[in-house]
Amino acid sequence: MITDIYGNKWYKGNLHTHTTDSDGAKTPEEVKRLYKDSGYDFLAITDHWHVSQAENYEGMLVLSGAEYDWSKDGCYHIVGYGLKEEPKLVKSDLPQKYIDEIKRCGGVATLAHPAWSLQRPDKMVQLRGVDCTEIYNSVSGYPYSPRPYSGNLIDVATVMGFRATLTAADDTHFYGDETGRGFVYVKAGELSEEAILTAIKKGDVLATNGPFVTCGIEDGYFAVRCEKGCRYVQFFSANYFNPDTTTTGGTVYEARFKIKPEKDRFVRAEAVDFDGKTAYTQYYYL
Ligand SMILES: [Zn+2]
Ligand SMILES: [Zn+2]
Repeated sequence: MITDIYGNKWYKGNLHTHTTDSDGAKTPEEVKRLYKDSGYDFLAITDHWHVSQAENYEGMLVLSGAEYDWSKDGCYHIVGYGLKEEPKLVKSDLPQKYIDEIKRCGGVATLAHPAWSLQRPDKMVQLRGVDCTEIYNSVSGYPYSPRPYSGNLIDVATVMGFRATLTAADDTHFYGDETGRGFVYVKAGELSEEAILTAIKKGDVLATNGPFVTCGIEDGYFAVRCEKGCRYVQFFSANYFNPDTTTTGGTVYEARFKIKPEKDRFVRAEAVDFDGKTAYTQYYYL
């Protein structure tokens, strides 16, 4: 847990995790031990087609979850967590049914690793009720796959009307060193299932590979603060001719982007630290 300069608490969690209950290499007990010992505040265990049990593991909040995959006409992996009951799903159900059923069971529905899945923006905008999507998914990266980052794809979908909270997850299977390379900080008043799920649905989330930043719109600017300093900050919007999308030079503690609402339409930022690790802010829609 991090307390920011404004006194807000940000809880650290992984929202996409595999165990021997599907194709992961460690048992649920080993996985909970590992994340607890690594300083995580919460964890969603999301095995393929297997609903995990919610529990309090020595003070770490464990959310009930599962991942439902579909690959016929396109590839959709829908992760659900915070489930209050077991979704009634079979593999022949359509991806929209996965989302609807996760929501009926009180869960948060995430469109996982859209770049890895070669998702199409025109298909993404047709999905209803998506709460989150992963801008970064560790196991979709080197050396297992070449597409851990989905930001460009989600930007195009966002221009077309797609709306979802951005998350990062390691999606660990314990193949090698993917564990811990993507996670979230969630801003909440307390560490409880209700507070964490409500905050995620509101978008009070920072997706990251490591760095922590805060951000907000102030006096017509989108401002990003890197408390420990970053190498550079880049801003993303729907406007391709933007002169001031990168702030760099020395150590960057604060970066500001002048908003041109009629052209930008949305703004988000990525802050990259001196280890090459990135923090990904949420979208601000203009
Ligand atoms: Zn998946
Ligand atoms: Zn997965």
